[in-house]
Parts: sequence; structure tokens; C-alpha cells
Amino acid sequence: MRTIDTIYINGRFVQPHGTELAPLFNPTTEAQIGAVRLGNEQDVNDAVAAAKAAFAGLSQSSKAERIAMLHGLHEAVSARAADLVDAMREEYGAPAAFIGFSVPHAATAFLHMAETLNDYEFRRRIGHAEVEMRPAGVAAAITPWNSNYGFICSKLATAIAAGTTMVIKPSEMSAIQTQLITECLHAAGLPDGVFNIVNGYGHVVGAALSAHRDIAKISFTGSTATGRAILQAASMTMKRVTLELGGKSPNIILDDADLDLVIPQVLAASFANSGQACIAGTRILAPESRLNEIQLRLADAVSALKVGDAKDPAVSIGPMVSQKQWDRVQSYIHLGQEEGARLIVGGEGRPEGLDRGWFVRPTIFSGVNNDMRIAREEIFGPVLCVIPYRDDAHAVEIANDTVYGLQAYVFSSDVKRAKRVAEQIEAGRVVINGAPHEPLAPFGGFKQSGMGREFGAYGLESFLEPRAVLS
Ligand code: NAD
Repeated sequence: MRTIDTIYINGRFVQPHGTELAPLFNPTTEAQIGAVRLGNEQDVNDAVAAAKAAFAGLSQSSKAERIAMLHGLHEAVSARAADLVDAMREEYGAPAAFIGFSVPHAATAFLHMAETLNDYEFRRRIGHAEVEMRPAGVAAAITPWNSNYGFICSKLATAIAAGTTMVIKPSEMSAIQTQLITECLHAAGLPDGVFNIVNGYGHVVGAALSAHRDIAKISFTGSTATGRAILQAASMTMKRVTLELGGKSPNIILDDADLDLVIPQVLAASFANSGQACIAGTRILAPESRLNEIQLRLADAVSALKVGDAKDPAVSIGPMVSQKQWDRVQSYIHLGQEEGARLIVGGEGRPEGLDRGWFVRPTIFSGVNNDMRIAREEIFGPVLCVIPYRDDAHAVEIANDTVYGLQAYVFSSDVKRAKRVAEQIEAGRVVINGAPHEPLAPFGGFKQSGMGREFGAYGLESFLEPRAVLS
């Protein structure tokens, strides 16, 4: 058992003023593995003051200086990749595929931002106006548990590229990863106060940052409900706010799709991080003409998935992050049956042979219509709904019939047809035939999946404020 009892302010690891401890668990064993001491409002004030003092220097730094900082951060984070893998297994029980994406992606976020910064023109002329893109001011980042250190890296990379200093409020459920990543970032030797990290509960530290008068910009990733609370608090001082929120992504299988290729990709899109991903494609839209065939193939493929301790490389589904999340997923599996959907694989309870750990049975419901709560609400677990559709137009209608709009997936043997469908989808990203992630393209949601965009030049501009000087 270890106690993480420091936060990071003004270039130093210091003890928080807060004295409360939050327990940390290993979800694979349910054992308590440690505790984290939580910060309070005083710690937020200290961190913001440090970031404010450092802003003067960073905002005046040259592109070349900031590119050098980003390269240094990339090296420092890459150096601890093996430790990060261990921490993700211990703290999340994250399966190999998710770790294989997340760990390198966290480090390369700094390189991608260095590339974006290198190409970005901070000054442009519009008629007789000279427009200068200025750093927006001191920024705050608030991160979710499921990609905690990945978002710490990508948000900090963007802030530094823009010349804004930052106070980071990580997820209190991921303190081991936070501690590791803080050590990495510290090793890069940035000027004091450029970044500061305060552990704490959302309603204490997150709320204090959202309302703080010296914070000009908030970059938040998490649930839609929390996003709403932050937006409200931030409105008092008109903070610039970027929100990356929840989703209920459609996985559209067109009737010409080659199922041998598609089924593994559909599962990869829906079960990433054991279904605990904002972009999980949990609504599988299947053409009526091939419904039975698709359901049988999905049921076979899901039954073959190994659930268990993610240290086993054959495991593709790990545990839910917490008892609370396990209970939540169970309640949705129960609800689906009450709503009249039919289980074709999985169901309530633990997988056979696993009586310890917050494991759930990967579950697929058929006979789902898009009005059911299991088709409308984010479950955040390995629970899929198969929803039949008549033709492409009907598939688009169902795909868009949601309050969310983060990501969508389209599968077809005819890429032109898939693109025609993609162009009608109300989502910030549409992935055709399992295309790989594009780190410089904008990422973010339509509708209640968010506000604004991250990554590349779109992300950079969300930390900038244009000033036009007319002469
Ligand atoms: P959450 O909303 O419960 O918590 C996210 C963060 O907000 C945590 O650090 C939490 O402490 C903090 N917080 C809570 N209440 C707050 C308040 N009142 N004011 C300020 N901060 C507060 O989300 P979670 O359970 O950690 O993560 C899962 C959610 O995140 C899912 O909904 C998922 O879809 C979403 N998510 C979205 C993206 C994306 O890029 N769109 C990526 C990953 C996760």
C-alpha cells in the first residue's frame, strides 16, 4: 500500500493543504492498493498563482523555444513507457490493445503539437487589419479516469504550444498514473509554474478551477453531466471552454460489407478499454436483410473473447474500473431485459470462473429499438445493442437520433457509398472501415458530446485569442 501525498506546484512536489485521503483500488483483485491525499481550494489558489506568474514568460517565448519544450516532454514521457504500462494494468486492468494505443499516443501528443506549432502562422493580414493569435491566458485541464494521463499529455502539449500555462486537475481515480506522469513532466525541466497538478475531488478542486477568476480557459474531458456543471460555473467569468463529453456511437454495417473483415473491427470499435471509452461504437446498426447472419457472427465472436486479468495477453476484456461502475453496467443489463430486448450473448453477473474483480460478461442485446434507454444512454461497459434498419437512409436516421454526436463508424465494401453515408452523420468524427486514428485531425463532438475541438491546429486555436489591429 502506498500513499500519494504530494501535488505539484511551481516546479516542486509539495504536500496539499487538504488532508482527506481517497482510496485507490486494483479492479482486477478488488484490493485496496493505496490512497491519495486530496487538495483543496487553497491548493487551487496556489497553483493558479504559480501558473499566472509563469504566464508572463511562456506567453512571450518563441516558437522555437516551445517546440524544444515539447520535444523534451516527449522524451521524458517516452522514457517511462514501461512504468506507465504497469500502472495502467494495476489501476485500470486495461487490456493490451488499449495500452498499446494509449501509452505511445500520450508521448507522441507532444510531437504532434510540435509539428502543428511549427506550421502554424500566429499573424495574418485581413485587409488593413493585422490579426495576431494571442495565448488565451492561464488554462485549466480537467481529465477523466479512462484516459487520464493521455489527456494530461495532449492538453498540456496544446497549452504549451499556445503559450498558455496550465493547472491540471486529474481524475482522483487515477492517482498512480498521475504521479508517474508528473514525475515524467518534471524531468523535462520546464520553467517553474508552467504546469501545476492538483489532485482532488471534482466538486472541490474541479469546481474551484471552473469558477476561478484568474483562469481564462478550461479544457475538460469527461461526462456530459459534469461538462454542464463546468460550463455553468465557467460562465460567471466568461471562460473559454472546450468540452469533450460522452457518446453513444453508431457502428453502421452496410449491406454490402464483408463480415470477415468487419466483425473484428466492429468489436475493436465497441470494446476498446473493455467498453469504457467515449468513442465506443455501442449501437450496431445492421441491415434487416442480413440481421440474423450479423447477430450470429457477433455472438460467436463475442463468446470467443477472453475476459480476465489483462496481464494475460490473450485477454481482450478487463474489469470495470470500480464497484460503482460494475453496479451501473449490471443495472443496464437488467434494464435492457425489462425493456424487452433479448440477450444473445452475456447477461447479468460475473463471467464464469471469475469470482473476484469487477468483471462483467460482454453482452449483446438484439430486438432493440432506438427508443430504449439501453440504446440512448451511455453505459460505459461492454454492452452492445443490435438495431435493425431498412435502407441507408433509415440507418442515417437512427444513427442521428441521439443527443450525442462524438464518433460514428461505417463499414462497406464500397468506400464511395460509405462516404455518402458518413457525410450525413451528425458526429465530429466518422471512421470508415476501421481507418486508423489521425492525430492532427480535429476531435470533438456535435450536440451534447461536446463543444470545440482538440488536436492539431483546431485544438491549438482553442487556447488562443485573436486580436486585430487596424491601421
Ligand atoms: P466524470 O465527468 O465523472 O469526471 C471527469 C473529471 O471531472 C474528473 O476529474 C472529476 O473529478 C471531474 N469533476 C467531477 N465533477 C466536477 C465538477 N462539478 N466540476 C469540475 N470537475 C468535476 O467522468 P469520468 O467518469 O471520469 O469519465 C468517463 C466519462 O468521460 C464518460 O462519459 C466518457 O464518455 C467521457 N469521456 C469523453 C472523452 C472525449 O474525448 N469526448 C474521452 C474520454 C472520456
